Amino acid sequence: MRVGIDIGGTKTAALVLDDAGSTVAHVSVPSGRGATQVLSTAVDVADRAAAAVGGWGEVEHLGACMPGLVDPVTGWARHAVHLGVGSLDLAGGLEAATGRRPHVDNDVKAAALGAHHSLGAGAATGTTAYLNVGTGLAAAIVHRGEVVRGASGAAGEIGHLPVGSGVPCSCGQLGCLETVASGAALHRMWPRPAHDLFPAAASGDARAREVVATLAHGIGVAVQVLVVTGAELVVIGGGVARDRAALEAALAAEVAARSATSPFLRRLDLVSRTRVLDGDVPVAAIGAALLPGRTEPVMAAG
Ligand SMILES: [Zn+2]
Repeated sequence: MRVGIDIGGTKTAALVLDDAGSTVAHVSVPSGRGATQVLSTAVDVADRAAAAVGGWGEVEHLGACMPGLVDPVTGWARHAVHLGVGSLDLAGGLEAATGRRPHVDNDVKAAALGAHHSLGAGAATGTTAYLNVGTGLAAAIVHRGEVVRGASGAAGEIGHLPVGSGVPCSCGQLGCLETVASGAALHRMWPRPAHDLFPAAASGDARAREVVATLAHGIGVAVQVLVVTGAELVVIGGGVARDRAALEAALAAEVAARSATSPFLRRLDLVSRTRVLDGDVPVAAIGAALLPGRTEPVMAAG
C-alpha cells in the first residue's frame, strides 16, 4: 500500500492507496505553522492513516508534497511562505519518524499526478495538465504518467506570462496572467467576500459581472496555453475553483464568445477538454502517494 501526505496552507491530509489505486483511508487535520510543527503534523496524520490499514508494516511506499520550492532529489523544501517554513528537510524528517524514505515534490506537481490518476486515466489521456487557481496561478503537466519538469523545474509556471494587464506582479514583471486570474487578483478586484462573487454576478451586479469576465478570460487563456502546449485534458482546482458549476459556466461563456469569430479556437475544443475539479477529490494527496510517478524510461517519440 501507498501513503500520500499533502501539507496544505490550511490542512494537512494523509491517505492510503491500495494496490489497485483506490483510497482506503483518509485523515485530515489543521496544518502546523513553522518547520517543526509542519513536520510533526505530517508525521501524525501519516501515522494515523497507516494505523487505519494495520500499521507501517503494510506500507511499501511513502510520498509527501507541500507548497514552495521542493527538491525531489535532496528532499528539502524551501520558501513555503504561508506555512511559515523557510527551509525544511521534509524527506529526512519523515524518514527519521517513519523509517521510510519518502518521495517529495511541490504540491501542484503532485496534484497533477493525482488528477491524471483520478480523471486522466479514465479518459485514456496521455497528457494531463493541472491548473491551480489558488492565491497564485500555477500549472503542472503529466505526460505518460510522468511530471514534466523543464528547465530549472519551470515547466507549468504560466502565472508569470506577461499578458498586459498593467498590474505590477510579485515576480517583478508587469501584467502577469496571475494578476488577473488568481485568488490574489480576485481579492484586489472584488473586496467583498470571494464566495459572493458568482451569486452577485448571477443577480446582475455590474461590477461582479466585470470581475467574473476578467477572471474567466485569464483562466481561459491559461487553459489555451496548456492545450496548445500539448495537454489533452486540463483539470482546474484551487480555492478560486470552489464554485464549480459557476466557474464552468463562466469559462464556457468566455470561450464561446472568443470562439465565435475564430475557427482556430473552435478546433481547440477548449471547453470539452476542461474539467473543474470536484473539491472533495484530494488530488494532491493521491498524487503524493504515487510520487515520483512513472519511473521506467519513456520511449522517445519516433
Ligand atoms: Zn509575475
